[in-house]
Amino acid sequence: MEKIIIATGASERTLPFGNWSAPGVMSAGALQSLAKEYGVIPGKKIVIAGSGVFAMPVAKTIKKVAKDLGTRVEVSIIEAQSLFRWWRNTFAFLLNPSKIIEAIGFVMFMKGNDVKTLSKTIITEGKIDAGQIIGVEIARVKSDLRQDQIKKSLSADLIATSFGFIPDMTLASILGLERKFLHGDAVVFVDGNQRTSLDGVWAAGEITGIGGHELAISEGAIAARDLLKKGHRSRGSYFSTALLKWRRMRQQFFAAGLAKIYPVSKGWIESLDDSTIVCRCEEVRAGEIRESASELGADSARTAKLFTRAGMGLCQGRICQKNVKEIIDFMRGDVPNATDANRETVRPIGGVVTLGGLSD
Ligand SMILES: Cc1cc2nc3c(=O)[nH]c(=O)nc-3n(C[C@H](O)[C@H](O)[C@H](O)COP(=O)(O)OP(=O)(O)OC[C@H]3O[C@@H](n4cnc5c(N)ncnc54)[C@H](O)[C@@H]3O)c2cc1C
Repeated sequence: MEKIIIATGASERTLPFGNWSAPGVMSAGALQSLAKEYGVIPGKKIVIAGSGVFAMPVAKTIKKVAKDLGTRVEVSIIEAQSLFRWWRNTFAFLLNPSKIIEAIGFVMFMKGNDVKTLSKTIITEGKIDAGQIIGVEIARVKSDLRQDQIKKSLSADLIATSFGFIPDMTLASILGLERKFLHGDAVVFVDGNQRTSLDGVWAAGEITGIGGHELAISEGAIAARDLLKKGHRSRGSYFSTALLKWRRMRQQFFAAGLAKIYPVSKGWIESLDDSTIVCRCEEVRAGEIRESASELGADSARTAKLFTRAGMGLCQGRICQKNVKEIIDFMRGDVPNATDANRETVRPIGGVVTLGGLSD
């Protein structure tokens, strides 16, 4: 029988704000890739906005590449949550001492390289002039992401935004693997050996829960050992598998801590203006999505898509689907249908691409 481990990774999450579809707004991952892989820094005053630990490595990359290129770049981080929430992860830090060193390293780098951080703040609008970003309007937020009224402007020529990652469930849903919700994400349901609900299919990495590259590596190794039946052969290999599982447990604990520190709570929906674009590909605005639930009875991201075209464009909902889902859930209250992980993540487009086909 053929066996397969699927590990299709994740895409970045962004939350919509005024003018986020203008040139000069991109995801933090896109900014990092441009700098790291191509040595391109597309701005001089960069604001990295959102929530989560990802802003720090991106800021570090930008500063380092700018230094190599001999250019000056101002980088600020706008973080939605309070930095004091880190105490919630104390135990997870103790289980993962290397993370303490990593965190201290980042804090020192930020201080030494003049990267300013504003916490409990989000971008409400990108200011544009002649089609280009010239600044941002920011507002204080509560921990549930509801905005305070006090707003302020900062100048910027590039906005990079990131509110964490969303597991890519395309292949998992095509295969019909059982899914569940973990920290608000639909993920593949796996057992202790990373086996999925389908015989001969294992899953590893971000599709079983967002946790970073180290956790993905541990999960991949556990899946591979089980697939190859290692860990069943001798006491030594049983011990190696047990060690891997202990490492995975520590790393999952850390990931769960991060999810608690940086929750993307539903308050953002309350502050969302009806005129703000939610689906960039099809230019569908928040008001239309709200109306699809209140007037037309949309009860999921999928039905909202059929009414409004949100998620029908080039990216097939990779960017907006989760936001559309949350808006619809919010409009309907917590009804069982809207929290069915198996229903929400069906994205039926997929096909086999052979290596021969690619080389042709
Ligand atoms: C820009 C960026 C920066 C990051 N920086 C950090 C960092 O500094 N530290 C950290 O710990 N983590 C970081 N991460 C997260 C880290 O990359 C992931 O945790 C890790 O790569 C997860 O491994 P994975 O195997 O789950 O997925 P990935 O490494 O993303 O691999 C998924 C692979 O599956 C392929 N794929 C997807 N769908 C299909 C399909 N249908 N058919 C065939 N192939 C498919 C994709 O092309 C990709 O090659 C970053 C992520 C991004 C996007």
